[in-house]
Amino acid sequence: IFPGSVDAAGQPATLGVLGGGQLGRMFVHAAQRLGYFTAVLEPDAQSPAGLVSHHHIQTTYDDPAGLAELAQLCQSITTEFENVPAQALQTLAQTRPVAPSAAVVGIAQNRIEEKAHFTACADVSGVTCAPYAVIETLAQLQAVQNERADLLPGILKTARMGYDGKGQVRVKTAKELAAAWAELGSVACVLEKMLPLTAECSVLVARGWDGQIVSFAPQRNVHVNGILAVTAAYEGNMPSVLADRARDAAVAIAQHLGYVGVLCVEFFVVDDGTEHGGLVVNEMAPRPHNSGHYTIDACDASQFDLQVHALAGLPLPQSRQHSPAIMLNLLGDVWLDANGQLQEPDWQAVLRLPGTHLHLYGKLDARAGRKMGHLTITGPDVDGVKAVARRAAALLS
Ligand code: ADP
Ligand code: MG
Repeated sequence: IFPGSVDAAGQPATLGVLGGGQLGRMFVHAAQRLGYFTAVLEPDAQSPAGLVSHHHIQTTYDDPAGLAELAQLCQSITTEFENVPAQALQTLAQTRPVAPSAAVVGIAQNRIEEKAHFTACADVSGVTCAPYAVIETLAQLQAVQNERADLLPGILKTARMGYDGKGQVRVKTAKELAAAWAELGSVACVLEKMLPLTAECSVLVARGWDGQIVSFAPQRNVHVNGILAVTAAYEGNMPSVLADRARDAAVAIAQHLGYVGVLCVEFFVVDDGTEHGGLVVNEMAPRPHNSGHYTIDACDASQFDLQVHALAGLPLPQSRQHSPAIMLNLLGDVWLDANGQLQEPDWQAVLRLPGTHLHLYGKLDARAGRKMGHLTITGPDVDGVKAVARRAAALLS
């Protein structure tokens, strides 16, 4: 699909996205920079992506008329929200190229299928996931209680709809496990062994319709209360042997899935007694990822540029990172004072710091834990970037 082109019927080249969150907004920005028109399907009238797109179809994700309108407007369609019903992608795929496919989004939406996929390609990826057991029935719960003491202490995670640490309960005993399963509504879950993490990282991969594949170096991530807080993206953020293994593993996982689009694979670094620690694959997101936002300011093609290129069938540039970077997530908490009263952060002071790039998603009401924006710090050297990041973090705490 040529950027900026118009078809015989006079319709401009248009890319579509299911979901109207900040990931969709940044996709729309990248697509528009290349001259594409964009269409967003999202029920919320004030969504970050819907507000900046040429077209906003305001229906639920599974509304037949809304999906038909999206297909009619767009030459190809992607998603920005992994819990969009896989069936909606299936419907769109009957008439339009859709990437990633409903099948792979379906796998990434379900921790049971996701772990089965990681296990199936462990030989080629070289990594396994944390020891786990599936709990879908009372009988399975009891079997795990009786036979899988090796998984305790562990984390019980719902198979579906979990994100930002939601849908998870940490359990130490078989009794706590039963209570946690009830608390989560006795839905399909996985119990995962709690691992001694020394670090977390993620890898972004983009793969085209023709199988061309490019990847970014792993970024190191720090989570607070299950939500990404900081991403460190620079040479030396982790031992290079681990970085190389993570990157190779993510590429193998994407290839094994026959993936098209941008995929983010999250890894744990665990203390296994070896010099650098071991690498364990955690989960994958079938879309650009919060941990890849630094690519907008620190790389010559961002994760969103690659999503646009992959979707439109354009060549995928092997993006070069030109600056070390640290990204700080800006949650609604930054806007709330000690008494929970709204207070605008001191942007004057933040933006006076060298190398700061402020991104706000156009969300008008700040709530604790809500992702409102992010701040990326770039600079000529790692130490300088770290120093500015510390000062920015102090201003925003
Ligand atoms: P989400 O879908 O919410 O991102 P994750 O499975 O990535 O769920 O878990 C969120 C965070 O919880 C991880 O980034 C990690 O910090 C911690 N965590 C998850 N699983 C484990 C585990 N098996 N051992 C130790 N920490 C874990
Ligand atoms: Mg995660």
